Amino acid sequence: MKLTFLGVSSALSVGYKNFHSNMLIEKDESSPKLLIDCGGDVRHSLYELGYCAADIDAAYISHLHADHVGGLEWLAFSKFFGEQRQLSLYISSDQRKTLWDNVLSGGMSTLEEQESTLETFFKLEPTDDNKFIWNGGDFELVKVPHSYSNHQLLPSYGLFISGTKSSVFITSDTRFAPDILNEVYERADIIFHDCETSSHFSNQHAHYTQLVTLPLHIKQKMWLYDYNDACLPDAVSDGFRGFVTRGQIFEF
Ligand SMILES: [Zn+2]
Repeated sequence: MKLTFLGVSSALSVGYKNFHSNMLIEKDESSPKLLIDCGGDVRHSLYELGYCAADIDAAYISHLHADHVGGLEWLAFSKFFGEQRQLSLYISSDQRKTLWDNVLSGGMSTLEEQESTLETFFKLEPTDDNKFIWNGGDFELVKVPHSYSNHQLLPSYGLFISGTKSSVFITSDTRFAPDILNEVYERADIIFHDCETSSHFSNQHAHYTQLVTLPLHIKQKMWLYDYNDACLPDAVSDGFRGFVTRGQIFEF
């Protein structure tokens, strides 16, 4: 499997051309392409690497913040009106209704002769037991603690992907929670971890100063992404693999 980082930045980053932390997974260059999250920057981040909407076969959505889902209307409309086909969509079952009712329906309820629904534009792929298989790879949804609304945890799901050579864990957006995530840290060969680097702590994301306290054997398989526009610390000297750069490719 080949993993390409279309962007590596936090939700609020502007001007550094790092783009939202969305990724592309493919078996090889001629195989179908799965988008991992689809933020508002995605049409630009795809274009920068020579891709267009027609190249994308399916999308996985980890949670409903705009840097992860804000480009989905553009992508689904491009497939629906441009190619007369639905976009295959992988998302946890507990987020489907909210995705349509609270995120997409305002802009996508625009068909003159029918009432549109999520199923109008998307081919909803099964994620039973928080698992799915795509292009021969095993994908496991890993629930992570990210945001709360009035003390209720809002879901976000990272991905544990078993490739042909190794396994990777992509956290999506998560707080620092080694007590919850350590089991997944241990079994992954490579970890891509959400990492806030600003001086301001949002408390929604794992911060670099927290991640640096993890055991060395965990940090030695950890790449950091979703960082802020600022000078970055020397992650390699602190034991990490490093900060992912936009366009960086990993084979696993
Ligand atoms: Zn988020």
